[in-house]
Amino acid sequence: MKVAVYYNNHDVRIEDRPVPEPGPGEMLVQTRACGVCVADTMEWYLVPRAPLTLGHEPTGVVLKLGAGTNGFREGDRVFVHHHVPCLICEYCRQGNFTMCSTFKSTHIKPGGFAEYFLASASHVERDTLLLPDGLSFDVGTLIEPLACVIHAIRKANVRAGDRVVLIGTGAMGLMFVQALRFWGVRKLVVYEVLEWRQQKAREFGADCVLTPLEDPQAEAERARKVLGGGGADKVIVAAKDLRAMELGMRLANRGATVLFFATPQPDESIPLFPSYLFFNELQLAASYSADHLDTRTALDLLTAGAVDGEALITHRFPVEDLSEAILQTAGRQHCLKSVIQFP
Ligand SMILES: [Zn+2]
Ligand SMILES: [Zn+2]
Repeated sequence: MKVAVYYNNHDVRIEDRPVPEPGPGEMLVQTRACGVCVADTMEWYLVPRAPLTLGHEPTGVVLKLGAGTNGFREGDRVFVHHHVPCLICEYCRQGNFTMCSTFKSTHIKPGGFAEYFLASASHVERDTLLLPDGLSFDVGTLIEPLACVIHAIRKANVRAGDRVVLIGTGAMGLMFVQALRFWGVRKLVVYEVLEWRQQKAREFGADCVLTPLEDPQAEAERARKVLGGGGADKVIVAAKDLRAMELGMRLANRGATVLFFATPQPDESIPLFPSYLFFNELQLAASYSADHLDTRTALDLLTAGAVDGEALITHRFPVEDLSEAILQTAGRQHCLKSVIQFP
C-alpha cells in the first residue's frame, strides 16, 4: 500500500508497505479521504520527530475486522478518531479526556495519509463513528476539526445569548462562526485581516467583520460600541499571532472568558497584567484537541447541515501531492480546507 512519509513541508515521500492485518478487536480501514490540518504544517513541531506518517482526520470503508471485533461490519463507511481516552484514569474521571495519557499516546496506524490504516480495539470501541448515507467521505473528514471547535466552545462555556468575539477566520475560525450560531450566541463580531476571509465570515453568519485598528485601545473602544455593554462575554482567539491574543484580552467584558485556541511556538510569550485580570475577573482558558463526546456532536452538526462542510473544502489532492496540500494549508491564499482523496 502507498504510505506518505513526512520529512518536512517540502519533502514528503511515498513508500510502498505491506497492508497490515487486523488483530483481535481491531479494524482495517481503506482510507477514502483525510483532511490536512494546520498542525500538519507546523515544522517546528514535526521535523524533530520526522520521518513520520501524518493524517488525523480520516474517513474510509471497513475492509476487514479482527477476531471478536464488534459493532461494525465490513463495508461500513466510518470516521475514526485518532486519539481515544482510557475512561478510567483520574483525568478521565474528571471529564478531562484530552489530558488522559492514553488519549495523547493513541494513534491510528500508520496514519490517515496511507491507503489503509489500522484502528485499535480502543479506537473501535470508543470513537469510531458510522457516516450517515448523506455524508460524503470528504465532509466526514471535518468531524475531527469541528470536534476541536466544539471542545473549545464547551471549554469557554459559551451560552445562548452571549456576545462573542472571534479573532481569526481560517477553516477553523469559519467552523467557529457556524457552530457559535448553532449555540445561539446573540452577537458575533469577527476580526480578520484578509479580505477574502472577511467575506467568508459574513457569508457564514458573522454579524460584524472588522479589521483590527492599529491602536489596541482604540479597537477596544470601538468593539464596546459594536457589541454594546462592556465588551464580549466570550472571546475566542483562533489566530496564531501574539498580537491577536493581547487584543483578545482587551476586548473581553468584566467577568468574561478568553479562550486561546491557536497554537503558538513554545518559546513565544505575551505580557500579562494580573492586576487587570483581578479587577476584571477575567477567566483565561485553553482548549486542546477534542474528545469522543465532541466528535459525536460534530457528526450531528455536519449531518444536519448546521455546519456547511462542503463550503469549507476548497482543495482536493491525491496523496502523491501531499506536500503541495501542506504548503497550500500553510499559505494565506484562497485555501480553507484541503482534503487528500484516495480512489
Ligand atoms: Zn487537526
Ligand atoms: Zn484516561
